[in-house]
Amino acid sequence: MGRSSGIVKGMHILDIFARDKVTISFEFFPPKTDTGWDALFSRISQFESLDPSFVSVTYGAGGSTRKNTHDLVLRLLQQTGLDAMPHLTCIGHSDQEIQELLLKYAQAGVSNILALRGDLPSDLAETRTSDFNHAADLVRAIAKFNDSGACSDPRGFGIGVAGFPEGHPDTPNCLEQMDHLKAKVDAGADYICTQLFFNNDLFFDFRERCEIAGINVPIIAGIMPITSTKVMNRMADLAGGMQFPPALLRTIDRCNEDQDLVSKAGIHWATEQCRDLVDRGARGIHFYTLNKSDATQCIHNTLGLSRVESS
Ligand SMILES: Cc1cc2nc3c(=O)[nH]c(=O)nc-3n(C[C@H](O)[C@H](O)[C@H](O)COP(=O)(O)OP(=O)(O)OC[C@H]3O[C@@H](n4cnc5c(N)ncnc54)[C@H](O)[C@@H]3O)c2cc1C
Repeated sequence: MGRSSGIVKGMHILDIFARDKVTISFEFFPPKTDTGWDALFSRISQFESLDPSFVSVTYGAGGSTRKNTHDLVLRLLQQTGLDAMPHLTCIGHSDQEIQELLLKYAQAGVSNILALRGDLPSDLAETRTSDFNHAADLVRAIAKFNDSGACSDPRGFGIGVAGFPEGHPDTPNCLEQMDHLKAKVDAGADYICTQLFFNNDLFFDFRERCEIAGINVPIIAGIMPITSTKVMNRMADLAGGMQFPPALLRTIDRCNEDQDLVSKAGIHWATEQCRDLVDRGARGIHFYTLNKSDATQCIHNTLGLSRVESS
């Protein structure tokens, strides 16, 4: 990205956007087993070599991965050159639990939080009560925490929120959906990271709709390369409402279940998507890595992303 080597740990997201013309970020999930931790850390130097703007770590809704998210973020910050931010979901949490967690992150030098509602699994949904209904409530709680001055940065935590270029399944009314997104930004969000998508026109339409709605924070594009038909099925499950374009479906179909070919075709599609996103002025690309470095590394190298000039 043409910036000086070495990532400053715990940089506020507004400073990251000021530094990088196009942010490149990676998403990890906290491994559940020792083998998973070893596997992730055996690849960390490959991720580090790509010099991302930041990385983020997912959080199980209702706190199912709470400790692991916290531990992974701290280990990345302390033992690697990666600037890590935790995801935090509010559904199923009390305000006190959230405030305690924020304090722990502030004390550990974490600078940014991706604030989400989350989706409680049905078995937890019946037993868990929540002080929060929507992500905007969490953004407000973080903004309140920021006012307490507990973070070393006087601005408090930088705050990211989720956006859905193809709509969110809970809100079929597309105008209402923009109102709810705007509520998160008005409550204090500094940027939006989108759900994964395969048709860039939908991303740019979404960006324009945000502009018309008066949402002016940076919007970064969530990209996930298809690396197998299993991954593809998982994406369809996780990203409700997201569509695979016919041209992509035809390509995957022609691979005839040969997983090596599927991976090549999926990486090629994602590479073309990223090239077009950068060419057309996307503010950032966020790779959903599934803790694997090969696909991300391949796209990154093919596009020369590390040489996108800083502003
Ligand atoms: C970049 C990204 C990262 C993610 N990371 C995680 C993660 O780490 N862990 C995890 O469990 N999940 C994660 N998710 C999934 C996310 O939690 C779900 O998609 C969830 O359903 C929506 O979360 P949200 O933050 O957008 O919620 P919200 O902004 O609260 O929106 C959820 C729904 O409620 C509607 N809504 C909002 N406000 C109101 C209101 N006042 N009245 C009525 N309806 C309203 C919205 O329109 C939308 O349909 C991630 C998603 C993205 C895009």
